[in-house]
Amino acid sequence: MMKWKMIAKRGLALTLVGLMLTGVGGSPGMRFASAQSVSGSQVQDRLSGVNFYFDTVVTLTLMGGTQDQLDAMWAACARYEALLSKTISTSDVARINKANGQPVTVDPETWEILRQAKTVSDASDHAFSMTIAPVVGMWDFVNGTHRMPTEEQRLAALPLIDDDALVLGEGDTVTLPAGMSIDLGGIAKGYIADQIAAMVAGKVQGAILNFGGNVYVVGAKADGSAFRVGIQDPASQLGATKAIATVRDASVVTSGIYERYFVEDGVWYHHILDPKTGLPADTDLASASIIHESSMLADAYATACIVLGSEKALTLLSQQGLDAMLITREGTVLTTDGFEEKYQLQLN
Ligand code: AMP
Ligand code: MG
Repeated sequence: MMKWKMIAKRGLALTLVGLMLTGVGGSPGMRFASAQSVSGSQVQDRLSGVNFYFDTVVTLTLMGGTQDQLDAMWAACARYEALLSKTISTSDVARINKANGQPVTVDPETWEILRQAKTVSDASDHAFSMTIAPVVGMWDFVNGTHRMPTEEQRLAALPLIDDDALVLGEGDTVTLPAGMSIDLGGIAKGYIADQIAAMVAGKVQGAILNFGGNVYVVGAKADGSAFRVGIQDPASQLGATKAIATVRDASVVTSGIYERYFVEDGVWYHHILDPKTGLPADTDLASASIIHESSMLADAYATACIVLGSEKALTLLSQQGLDAMLITREGTVLTTDGFEEKYQLQLN
């Protein structure tokens, strides 16, 4: 129904990519409302659906859950898209961006995401900056136009990147100086993954929730064993895994310079920008994967790690007590202390 409509609109290729991204938790075994005789509240061994939200293919799989639960999760995705999308004019983010310096009252959830984004911005010396939007808008990593700013445009936009200038006030108000704008692309999916996971945690046998770079696993497989989540090999065009982590009730979030990029005159331009330059981060890292119960924190810190590069990233990760695996552009795997044992890491 809605799922079929979305897939027809976005094309089959996207669906297949989504399946590949599911990792090694098991084949998704999709059942698009196939079992007409099954009522929405009846517990089923396995239920799965694919949709396009947050500019990415989202695959939700429940084991020991109901269609009603799955439907409620999709409804939540739609609500978060409407709240947080930069391109939906009525969203909180769009309203903040066009408020011209006036305070805007937002949903308490938006306010909370902004509060958390500020803490990561502070902790990462602003490597993570949600006010990066003015320069993000000057680049096109998605539609194949290879648009990029001139040096003049880029330098003119840099003073507009300043997370400290975003004021979170009483009563869920947000004030952003005129000319500035925000982009929650580096953190929102994490927040959403946490909320969607919380909807079924403790209520289903297991769940694999895949939001592209953010995977949340809830519970365990039917036999009680933990899910195994693949971490992509940045060098592989086909999405082969570089490593497999064994995870329970946590999120695995990967930021990578291979996710959105273009190559022009032999130069690799990727979508994670350095707030200090407005250019794709000049980093030795190809990807950063963080495993944490908070997909939101993992998401924001993973983006920051790419900007910082391996050395500063490892310092930040240990300061914050985060578990992570970094892959350099040369293919070297770096992990935080105890990571391999804790997640029974299997390197390919
Ligand atoms: P992620 O895939 O989580 O690393 O987020 C990348 C997205 O976050 C980009 O597509 C931009 O929308 C936005 N972004 C880019 N650079 C930054 C940055 N330095 N800090 C915060 N968000 C960023
Ligand atoms: Mg991120």
